[in-house]
Amino acid sequence: MTIEYNTLEVEIDLSAIRHNYRILCEKGTKVYGVIKADAYGHGLIEVADALSKEGADTFAVGTVNEAVELRKSGRGERIIALLGLLNETDCFNAVKYNVIPFIGEFEQLEMLSSVVSAQGQKIEISLKFDTGMSRLGFSVDELDQLIDWLKANPQISPVLTSSHLATSDDPAYEDYVGAQADQFSHILKELESAGFELEASLANSAGILVHDKVRLMAQRAGIALYGANPLSGTKWNEIGGRLIPAMQVSTKIASVHTLKKGRSISYGCTYTAEKDMTVAIVCAGYADGYSRSLSNTGQVCINGKRAKIVGRVCMQLTAVDVTDIPDVSFGGRAYLLGGEGEGKISPDDLAGWWETITYEVFCLLGQNPKTFK
Ligand SMILES: *Cc1c(COP(=O)(O)O)cnc(C)c1O
Repeated sequence: MTIEYNTLEVEIDLSAIRHNYRILCEKGTKVYGVIKADAYGHGLIEVADALSKEGADTFAVGTVNEAVELRKSGRGERIIALLGLLNETDCFNAVKYNVIPFIGEFEQLEMLSSVVSAQGQKIEISLKFDTGMSRLGFSVDELDQLIDWLKANPQISPVLTSSHLATSDDPAYEDYVGAQADQFSHILKELESAGFELEASLANSAGILVHDKVRLMAQRAGIALYGANPLSGTKWNEIGGRLIPAMQVSTKIASVHTLKKGRSISYGCTYTAEKDMTVAIVCAGYADGYSRSLSNTGQVCINGKRAKIVGRVCMQLTAVDVTDIPDVSFGGRAYLLGGEGEGKISPDDLAGWWETITYEVFCLLGQNPKTFK
C-alpha cells in the first residue's frame, strides 16, 4: 500500500493544453503529443484525452510500459515509445499492444526480430538516428549496415524515423541545429533511395517555434504543450509568448505567527528576523518535490501577493514572510506555482529560484495528487 502523505494539490487546466496544442499546429504539419513521464507530470491519460479532442493522432511516451498503460486506457491512436526496447518483455508488449518503439541499436533489432519471428508476427518501428545529441540512435556511419539488415528482415517494418535536437532553444547554437538538420536530411535521402519512405520528425517544441529548417513531415511537441516557453530569457522570447501554463500547485497554511526581531527560523538558523515579522508555515517541502534549493530564495503567492521563503525548506514544511500581506490565516491557501493577481508565479519564476528548468519543476511537483479542469 502506498501511504498518502502529500499535502500539495496540483490542478491541471486541460483547456490550456488544448490551446497550446493548437498554437503548435499553426505551422501546418503533424504534431505528435509528447506525453512521456506522466505527460511531464500533467497526467498521461487525461492529457492524451485532451489532445485527442484537438485531433492529435500520435502520442510519444517514454517506456513501453507507459505505452501499454495508455493503450489499455482505450486509446486507438498511434503510440511511440521514445526509450525504445529495453528487454524482451518490452518486445512482446510492443507487438501485443501495437506500440511503435524507437530503435537505435542493432542489439534492439536482433532482440526484437527473435521475439517477432518466434511468434510469426510483424512489427512497425521508428528508426532513431544520432545527429549531435550523442545519446541514443544509429550513427550515420551505421546507415549502410542498417539498410542491409532491414532489407533482410522484412518482419521488422520501419514506418517512422527521427533524430533529436540538442540546442534548438539557444540562439547561440543556430549553426549546431543547422548541422543536425543537414545530417538528418542526408540520412533521409539515403533511406529513401534504399526504398524506405518514412514519416520523419526532428523538431521538439523550440524547434517547432523557431527553426523553419527542422520542420519535417511531423514534429514532436513536449514542454510547450504544458505552457512553459522554451525560449524564455532569449531574444526569441516573444515567439513563445502565447503559451498558457497548465499546472497550478497549492497547499494549506498550517500556522501564522509572529517572528520577533532577533529570532531565527527553521533548521540551521539560516534566517534571522531584522524586525518584528509575521510568518506563515505552509505544508510543502522536499518530500513533495518542492526543492530544498528554494531555501531563503523562492517565493509563494498568498492572497495574490508574493511571500518570500525564510530559512530552510524542510521535508514537509516551509516558512514564508507574510508581514505585508493582509488576511493570512490558518487554513488559507499558498500557491507554489500559479495563483492570482500580481503575485502569480510562472513556471519560469519557480524554475529560476530552483536553479533548474521548467521540465524538472513540472515532473517533480506533478508527482503529487492531481485534479483536472
Ligand atoms: C522529450 C522529447 C521531446 C520533446 O521535447 P520538448 O523540448 O519538451 O518539446 C521530443 N523528442 C524526444 C526524443 C524527446 O525525448
